[in-house]
Amino acid sequence: MTEYEIVVIPGDGIGPEVVDAALAVLKECETRYGLKLNYTFRDFSADLYRRTGRKITAADMDEIGKADAVLFGAMGLPDVRGPEGLELGAQVEMRAHYGLFSSLRPVRLFPGVESPVKAKNVDMLVIRETSEGMFAGLADKHEPSDESASDRMTITRATCEKLFDVAFSQARARRKRGTPGHVTLLHKSNALRSNVLMEKVFDEIAAKNDDIGSAKFYIDAGSMYMVTDPERYDVVVTENIFGDIVSEIAAGLVGGLGVAPSADVSLTHGVFQPSHGSAPDIAGKGIANPTAMILSAAMMLEWLGERRGDDRCAKVAQNIQSAIESALATGPRARDLGGTAGTQEVVDAVISALPA
Ligand code: ATP
Repeated sequence: MTEYEIVVIPGDGIGPEVVDAALAVLKECETRYGLKLNYTFRDFSADLYRRTGRKITAADMDEIGKADAVLFGAMGLPDVRGPEGLELGAQVEMRAHYGLFSSLRPVRLFPGVESPVKAKNVDMLVIRETSEGMFAGLADKHEPSDESASDRMTITRATCEKLFDVAFSQARARRKRGTPGHVTLLHKSNALRSNVLMEKVFDEIAAKNDDIGSAKFYIDAGSMYMVTDPERYDVVVTENIFGDIVSEIAAGLVGGLGVAPSADVSLTHGVFQPSHGSAPDIAGKGIANPTAMILSAAMMLEWLGERRGDDRCAKVAQNIQSAIESALATGPRARDLGGTAGTQEVVDAVISALPA
């Protein structure tokens, strides 16, 4: 049996609560399906920084990067800021350190969950570029000023090529389970020079993948379609800040952040975490919806299974997804989905819905 080394970083707020939930589901899967996951727990959190000044370092990330994957809860607290006034996020540093250029954010309207818009069949994958775009200048020299401050948007051909290759291969892989096989670029090439290059590279990669349909919308119109006609989207790909925003609009269509997983991946490393943050407003109350974290753990198994040619691991990922689907259909429902269930009740429901 293949064994996997997993580094677990629970983080802040509801991070540790949803991580515990996902680990309970994974533990049941280990017993039931013969999977073997070895965990190493690391504490990197805004809370640790507040207490000790300790932050994740390059040496930590080199060490963590030797594992097969990282399972990450959520990090950041609104009142804990670095010297430049920004919230701390080990996830942002790991994206840079491992070159995690694409954040895969699948969004699906599960039976039993109501969408706030008139849509029945929302099933899309938003791919947010995560190494450059509007966050390209995070490490730039910063002169503190009360009069002026800037950020920098940079788009490179090399990252676009890798990103769009991922988008087209994801569309091809998804098509095997009935999606149309289509990629849409959201951009702003009418106003931003960097986006002119992004669009040009997209056209080149689309031409090489002509078995997959493609479309382009300006980010503003594309965001409107996200709400008025989300069923038109299959794979949506875009730069960093547009993807940050659009992926949360997409999550809102299918029940919100509590059900929106994500995977930050490069060709060699993967960090799996829910799309939501540390949600300090509900932390410690036992009411966080663990679905997004459990689905992120399933994405981790899917990714590991694909990389290692391990069908058993990929099958466990499918079993978790189908257990989530049944639990959402039958309830109990978490509070963010209009129900009254706490985190543990949702975990119990998912575990009892796991296929035999
Ligand atoms: P970040 O910028 O760090 O991603 P954010 O500003 O998107 O964070 P979140 O921490 O994700 O903010 O929380 C946004 C809202 O969604 C909050 O009201 C929070 O309570 C709610 N929320 C987030 N995750 C969950 C969850 N798993 N279950 C229930 N509610 C959640």
